[in-house]
Amino acid sequence: MLVTGGAEGIGWAIARRFAAGGHRVAIADLRGDAAVARARELGEGHLGIACDVAVEPQVIAMVGKAAAAFGRLDVLVNNAGIADSFLPTVEQGTDLFGRQLDIHLKGTFAASREAAKAMLPAGGGAIVNLASIAGLTGLPRRNGYAAAKAGIIAITRTLAAEWGRGGIRVNAIAPGYVRTALVEALEREGRVDTGAIGRRAPLGRLARPEEIAEVAWFLASPAASYVTGVTLPVDGGWMAYGAAGD
Ligand code: NAD
Repeated sequence: MLVTGGAEGIGWAIARRFAAGGHRVAIADLRGDAAVARARELGEGHLGIACDVAVEPQVIAMVGKAAAAFGRLDVLVNNAGIADSFLPTVEQGTDLFGRQLDIHLKGTFAASREAAKAMLPAGGGAIVNLASIAGLTGLPRRNGYAAAKAGIIAITRTLAAEWGRGGIRVNAIAPGYVRTALVEALEREGRVDTGAIGRRAPLGRLARPEEIAEVAWFLASPAASYVTGVTLPVDGGWMAYGAAGD
């Protein structure tokens, strides 16, 4: 299996979950040294790959390396991502907007396409995409991020429809807030208030990365053999809770 952005946070939890489940794991990350170090942490047979998912030739090389090392590619998890700028919309340029699309949406598209080239001749596989509740609801000041995540939800359906008969299932996870380096940095910068998030989420707290990894594991596994094209919120009830106050 191959996970992008696997050196940290949710991606690293996913790498650990699949390794524990017996997979050989290729960890791709912008920070190539960290990816290699994480693969070593998992032990023999795993692989670290330097890749910026926003750069198409690097994505092509990444999938090629993983497929060559393992002799096949059965699972791809498109997880690499960054936070939005949180600038007021009237101060946002199309460059920042486009950067979100390049990493999240184009990266997911290109990696999925390359993975399918390995999966279709082998009879199939599973792709899991990291979307976000930001792709399902409005979140002020996060235009590029939300558009990219909504786009990921759209291509999850499109690819599921196209590749179903080829044996590839394509699903997405829409996490709410997960306690990772990404969210902790936003909290330090005063951009998110995890206390307030915990109070709003019906389950009363943020997710742990392992709780997202467990769902990725399920969606990629034979237990989800008739599940394709869906986006599963894993958000502690955030989407279910529409009312103001309690
Ligand atoms: P994180 O910052 O903890 O880890 C992200 C990893 O991706 C890092 O190792 C980073 O080096 C890597 N990365 C960043 N840009 C990359 C690029 N261009 N190419 C390759 N690797 C790159 O982030 P996280 O919180 O674990 O988030 C992982 C995914 O989950 C992202 O797609 C994010 O949008 C999504 N998500 C996170 C949350 C949350 O609350 N943390 C909520 C919803 C969705």
